[in-house]
Amino acid sequence: MDIEKHIKDTIDYVEPKCDIYEFAIYMYLIRNTRVENKSEDTFGFKSLRKTIVIGVGEAGKPMSEQTCYGRLKKLELKGLIKIKSSNYNCQVIEVKFPSENFIKLNHEEEIKVDVEDLDFFNNQDLRTKILERDNWKCFYCFKALNSENYVLEHVVSRPTGNNSYRNLVASCRTCNNKKDKLNANDFLRKLYRDNLISDEELKVVAENLENLVNGLLKPKL
Ligand SMILES: [Zn+2]
Repeated sequence: MDIEKHIKDTIDYVEPKCDIYEFAIYMYLIRNTRVENKSEDTFGFKSLRKTIVIGVGEAGKPMSEQTCYGRLKKLELKGLIKIKSSNYNCQVIEVKFPSENFIKLNHEEEIKVDVEDLDFFNNQDLRTKILERDNWKCFYCFKALNSENYVLEHVVSRPTGNNSYRNLVASCRTCNNKKDKLNANDFLRKLYRDNLISDEELKVVAENLENLVNGLLKPKL
């Protein structure tokens, strides 16, 4: 996580577009999701609202329910959060860093998304972009994938490997299990030795792998 970039983006792009309540709520949400390596969580704003920010226009009182829910809606309209479900007591909220904001922050200006900074593993929309890039086929054995049977596979295993598009491929569960901590090139040779891919396919995957690492297989955002 490039925290320095996210802080700069937040201060440069988010703060000027938000009022003090929106900004306080957004910072609270970021703190409790993305900074904890989660993309979403469940929040009970019915009581949380009292602890996040002291009112400015409300004479030092805690934020009212109406203010709080109104500001959540505004943050959603700005593309910074997605309220995935909501009931009387709590909301499930997905939170985006400013650079992942796909909606225009105001109606003229759009934050430039730097694909190199994006975490393609922890964000559902971005996970799908990897699958689309790999044509919904296993990167290693070409087996067809769907939303039920795919895995996003780290070419270089964690914790060394990161969640960049350069290190993630769509994979079937079998390949994912078999590869485990193997180096990707060793794994390809193993697939070939086990007659799971032809020598022609081996060449194709090896070339794709090289292109992937060199950043030539950027997903379309
Ligand atoms: Zn496979």
